[in-house]
Amino acid sequence: MNYTKFFSKMSLLRQPSPIRSLAPLLKLPGMISLAGGLPNPLSFPFESCTFNLKDGSQISLDKAAMSIALQYSPSEGIADLYEVLKSHQIEKHSLVDRQDWNIIITSGSQDALTKAFEMLLDPGEDAVLVENPTYTGALAALHPLQPEMIEVPIDANGIIPEELERVITEYKGAKKIKFLYTIPTGQNPSGASLTVDRKKKILEIAEKFDFLVLEDDPYFYLNLVEKENINDKTDSDVTMLSMDGSGRVLRFDSLSKVLSSGIRIGWCTGPSPLIQRIHLHQQANSLHTSGLSQGVTAALLNEWGQDGLTQHVAKVQELYRKQRDMFVKSVEKHLKGYVEYSVPTAGMFLWMKLIGVEDSKSFIEEKAREKKVLMVPGQAFQPNDKPGPYVRASFSVEGQENMDLACERLAELLKENRKN
Ligand code: PLP
Repeated sequence: MNYTKFFSKMSLLRQPSPIRSLAPLLKLPGMISLAGGLPNPLSFPFESCTFNLKDGSQISLDKAAMSIALQYSPSEGIADLYEVLKSHQIEKHSLVDRQDWNIIITSGSQDALTKAFEMLLDPGEDAVLVENPTYTGALAALHPLQPEMIEVPIDANGIIPEELERVITEYKGAKKIKFLYTIPTGQNPSGASLTVDRKKKILEIAEKFDFLVLEDDPYFYLNLVEKENINDKTDSDVTMLSMDGSGRVLRFDSLSKVLSSGIRIGWCTGPSPLIQRIHLHQQANSLHTSGLSQGVTAALLNEWGQDGLTQHVAKVQELYRKQRDMFVKSVEKHLKGYVEYSVPTAGMFLWMKLIGVEDSKSFIEEKAREKKVLMVPGQAFQPNDKPGPYVRASFSVEGQENMDLACERLAELLKENRKN
């Protein structure tokens, strides 16, 4: 596939950093390099570090690992982490026979997303397909690039393929539709998860109308469907990346929801020509993701191995399943008849329609805040900023008591609203 038609003018102007391009030469036997601008490590006060894990074990970065973590490193990621994540992707997304693909490690998936958007969009000149509703952080990165946002309707199973095809054929604008931005698992904010059948159909539509698919999947590891066997595959485990037969899918992964959000580790996977452009951007931007964050993540993942990670993820899923069930219990207890919602099978959000409320933004901002209950009004997730009756509630951190209290307060407000 020739990707040039998808690239923005800015991305096409990106050139390799002359200094960063020398990095592979440093590895040649006998090479004496006076080329780099590497600070002298003798000036670094750190020697080694040890992290105490909650299970009582320890992860250490010895002198050698520290010297890599503390120094400038390759823009795609430090070798240890890059290799672990690449193998992980091969296993998780059936890439063993795939040619010409790559990954790049970024500071969370948000970092890769903004770079991908800049790679593909010329300000004001392109169109994109976005779920309605969708993640505010993606909208914040898209808005300055001024694409025409074609809204794609979703239900509890995510994008409705027939509706996707309809909005594309009804689009009469002259702008090229560059990509579909989709959050396939535990969608933020709706909690929706795509079925495998829908993913297949979406990819067929992408081929038919020749656009790329940006698969932003930070809730992939928060799949709450109970499995008999830890390695069983559910619909959310079968990704669009794994089904991509024509090199259209650029996938965004994140460790934010399973290891730490502050550690800022994400990675982007897709056809090499696309990853290469993001790489050029990274060379000119942050240079690379924090070496310390990468170092400790590599040490942990190497210590755990794939099985250890799977077991950790299973525990996280168990935690979130409990959180979700507690919240649904509170909602059922206090809000029955006042809200409509679907129970999410992944992620950390419940998307509720407040019955009888036309504009949830003023309702939340004027009334709910005063009653000391916060939720995000649905308007924040509207690609074209339209008001509506929805709110997003997160069930990730509060305990049953506060969940109950919050739902009780919301119920009182909705009762008052119904009276007026
Ligand atoms: N994409 C979606 C859909 C999200 O919900 C989030 C965070 O909430 C991100 C991306 C950013 O994640 P990260 O912490 O990996 O940058």
